[in-house]
Amino acid sequence: MDNKVERVMLSLQKNNIKPYYVETKEEVVPLVNYLLNEGDTVSAGGSVSLSETGIIEHLKCGRYNFLNRNVPGLTDEDIRNIYISALNSDAYFCSCNAVTENGELYNVDGNANRICAISFGPKSVIMIVGVNKIVCDMNEAIKRVKTIAAPKICKHRGNHTYCRKIGHCISIDKGQIDMASGCDSPERVCCSYLITGQQRVKDRIKIILVNDNLGF
Ligand code: SF4
Repeated sequence: MDNKVERVMLSLQKNNIKPYYVETKEEVVPLVNYLLNEGDTVSAGGSVSLSETGIIEHLKCGRYNFLNRNVPGLTDEDIRNIYISALNSDAYFCSCNAVTENGELYNVDGNANRICAISFGPKSVIMIVGVNKIVCDMNEAIKRVKTIAAPKICKHRGNHTYCRKIGHCISIDKGQIDMASGCDSPERVCCSYLITGQQRVKDRIKIILVNDNLGF
């Protein structure tokens, strides 16, 4: 483990966020299997990191009650109900847009269902985070979303936004570097912004740091 990762883990601990560290993405499923109990109700936000580490497949294995919003044929109303039920789950899985060396988490959502679950509701939040998401501070976290995460997410989902075409947020070209400046696209993925600092409920949020590049 390098010094930067060690610093992040100590900062997360200080903020009452429980850090775990694994060298490879193959170690993530066994750790998650250990953290969960058979019969747990589990749910997940949309995340490439979860697919890349095999977590989504693991949640479907039958050991858990998986509230899966990606089942074919679900209506918008069904998906909305899954989002709401997810807030009462035993464990909610997602990744994180950026983790600062101070142990703060930065997440930006289009629908805000994920940042709601991170903030309140699920008994446990388990984030799977590649070391590529570590940044030095919050300014770097904001920049990371505008120049890396959002453009790649828009490309992955096929959203018609400025950053998908140009590779960075329109706010940068306008000289607006504040957090919430952005495009007017109805398919914009940056609508609600969450900074997670020190937590009152110790270890409710857990972060599995993976020594690999995962997701966007
Ligand atoms: S506000 Fe729009 S252009 Fe800017 S990063 Fe978000 S989706 Fe892309």
